[in-house]
Amino acid sequence: MKVFIEPIGRLINEFTKLPGVGAKTAQRYAYKVINMKNEEAEAFAEAILRAKREVRYCKICGNYAEGDVCDICRERDRSVICVVKEPKDVVAMEKAHEFKGVYHVLHGVISPMDGVGPNDIRIRELLSRVSEGGVDEVIMATNPDVEGEATAMYISSLLKPLGIKVTRLAHGIPIGSEIEYADEVTISRALADRKPL
Ligand SMILES: [Zn+2]
Repeated sequence: MKVFIEPIGRLINEFTKLPGVGAKTAQRYAYKVINMKNEEAEAFAEAILRAKREVRYCKICGNYAEGDVCDICRERDRSVICVVKEPKDVVAMEKAHEFKGVYHVLHGVISPMDGVGPNDIRIRELLSRVSEGGVDEVIMATNPDVEGEATAMYISSLLKPLGIKVTRLAHGIPIGSEIEYADEVTISRALADRKPL
């Protein structure tokens, strides 16, 4: 005999697909949903579908956007580009309220051990953005770990011949840790103390 009737078992199974959600938590979430009012459960399901339908990548920076181009690319100073690994790093940087330029999301870092080469991340897109002109500085804000450093150095070697100033976030961010988890003060300081690469 099954422990859960089929629709509940299925819902629990879906929740276990979320990061950090084990069997027990998934079960708690499932019961919470079942006890919701109909409108509440519908709004919940609709929010998931709508996010999937309407969120896409900004065609300029690669961050999440509602339309073709994100608000940051549309409204901010495009002469300074901050290069990050993932969309969640943009959120971390934005929380510091210090950076006034635009971003470039690589969607990964160079990692030979994982079979990720320069052509597997959005380096080509960065080069074509820069070669369009109007860019004075590129700030490398990849994580201060082995892959992040190697990626920053590699990109820097491609940009420098183009006469672009390339800088690296200062090491306020602990070595081996992630931008995503750095607090606002640390990020502000790392940005202010950035060093030429
Ligand atoms: Zn954008």
